[in-house]
Amino acid sequence: MEIKKGIAVSPGISIAKLLIIDSEDYRIPRRSIEPSQRMMEVQRARNAFKGAISELTKLQAEQEAIEQRKIKDIFAVHLRFLHDRSLRKKITDLVHLESVTAEYAVSTTLREIASHFTKAKDAYISERAADIYDIERRLLRQLLGSKREDVEHLTKEVAIVARELSPTQAAGFNKKFVKGLATDAGGRTSHTAIVARSLGIPAVVALEDLTESVSGGDTVIIDGNRGIVVVNPDDETIRQYEQYSLEFAELEHKLDAIKGKPAVTRDGVRIALLGNIEFPDEAELVLQKGGEGIGLYRTEFLYLNRPSEPTEAEHYQAYVETISVFKHRPVIIRTVDLGADKYTQSKRFAPEPNPFLGLRSIRFCLRNLTMFKTQLRAILRASVLGEVRAMFPLVTNIQELMQAKMILRDVMDDLDEESIAYNKNIQIGIMIETPSAALMASTLARDVDFFSIGTNDLTQYTLAVDRGNELVSTLYSAVDPAVLRLIRTVVQDAYKAQIDINICGEMASEPEYVMLLLGMGVRTISLAPPMIPEIKRIIRSVTMEDCNYLARKILGMNSERQIASFLRDATRKVLPEAF
Ligand code: PEP
Ligand code: MG
Repeated sequence: MEIKKGIAVSPGISIAKLLIIDSEDYRIPRRSIEPSQRMMEVQRARNAFKGAISELTKLQAEQEAIEQRKIKDIFAVHLRFLHDRSLRKKITDLVHLESVTAEYAVSTTLREIASHFTKAKDAYISERAADIYDIERRLLRQLLGSKREDVEHLTKEVAIVARELSPTQAAGFNKKFVKGLATDAGGRTSHTAIVARSLGIPAVVALEDLTESVSGGDTVIIDGNRGIVVVNPDDETIRQYEQYSLEFAELEHKLDAIKGKPAVTRDGVRIALLGNIEFPDEAELVLQKGGEGIGLYRTEFLYLNRPSEPTEAEHYQAYVETISVFKHRPVIIRTVDLGADKYTQSKRFAPEPNPFLGLRSIRFCLRNLTMFKTQLRAILRASVLGEVRAMFPLVTNIQELMQAKMILRDVMDDLDEESIAYNKNIQIGIMIETPSAALMASTLARDVDFFSIGTNDLTQYTLAVDRGNELVSTLYSAVDPAVLRLIRTVVQDAYKAQIDINICGEMASEPEYVMLLLGMGVRTISLAPPMIPEIKRIIRSVTMEDCNYLARKILGMNSERQIASFLRDATRKVLPEAF
């Protein structure tokens, strides 16, 4: 039995036999053929296209049935590429002209296209390279036959283990049979994590070398609550996990019972619980889980899995869909936060030497004004339909904020000229995600209606620890005293300036941190939808007096370890079932 620790990205427990999926990184050597064989190779290439199209069409139809729109979108994009006649012609021409195998022609042609995409200055276009590699793999699977285990046609329950997964691999999983996911690589915001959450499959990422220590057919426990994978568990561990799984289901059931009740402390302080979403259809889940609005809509996910930038109409449609679920409740739309950890995989992004410190988030938008304005127009147009607020990510100084607001005013002027309605008093906020923004919060507060503390990035920039790097994950802690002091500064400055303050990093989804946040003055929390009931339960079990006392004690401590263990003990007393 071996226990591995990674990062929990999608809750739940699964116990199943594992299926290892390799990276499918086929290397096709150049092999010349006789001129007489050329027609046969051309036919093989055509058949591969046919096979890939029918495979994708079938998958698309299956997803149709379960209405996974974002997954369907990925398949639609790939089908469009596969139907492209000029692509086929390029491949068959290569077979004819250079007398090479169909595999070689497919691989060379698609890799050449992918490499053009990768070099594109536009980050969005360079991201499309991943789709091309995906199509290459699908075609090569057709040509080479599937010696690999075929995850798309499963007949029994499995847990998938891989070094890393491509978005389409993850999106193609059938929830009926894929009971859990575990990968060596990845972070909380990787595609795999997003898709796993959207499918409701327990998942753990950043396990570093899991694939090296397992073999196909081993039994694994994937604990998506605690980020643990147990390989070949002994009977006693299986029994314990079966018990834990039952308790977890019971707790979930119990928690469901408080869905309709307000998040209010025992001494009557009301807390607003909002949801973080990546796709509009998740708004419904937020509502189901008892959330009262959207505190963070990560709109950059609109840009993924498609060959071109979303149009204004597509932005607008996504916002309308989200707002329709929360008509009279806040919907905070964050402008695109592309770059850095959203594009970690090497094939996806023209490499910047230091992407976390590079052209990301608001910086990226301010350099891509057409794209930025398109989104702002859609947000403004949607603002008349509900309580829409706009939020800029990763603002690091006042100039960036001023520039972003100036662009917003330009877009408002355009809409005025066209007599298009929008909310002239739309609330504008910024994310506080860097030490510079936290330290300048009192200045920034004069020009915004609200702050939202992004603790995921704030922690990594304060502690100089890459949030997605599994090698330094033990150094990454949102309750490090340095991070807590910055959070306290921001909350106090927001209060002084009388602007709204909320917190939307993953810290807000951690049961152990809730009391501390309340004690530090936070009254609005935005978090992953599945965690809303549990966080509400804690809020309803504590008094603000307890929380204030706890925060005072914590803020006097200098060691992260001491803080973490103090918080664990305090939470255990309130919600023992969660441990
Ligand atoms: C954050 O940084 O805390 C945050 C919420 O933004 P994201 O996770 O999308 O970077
Ligand atoms: Mg962030």
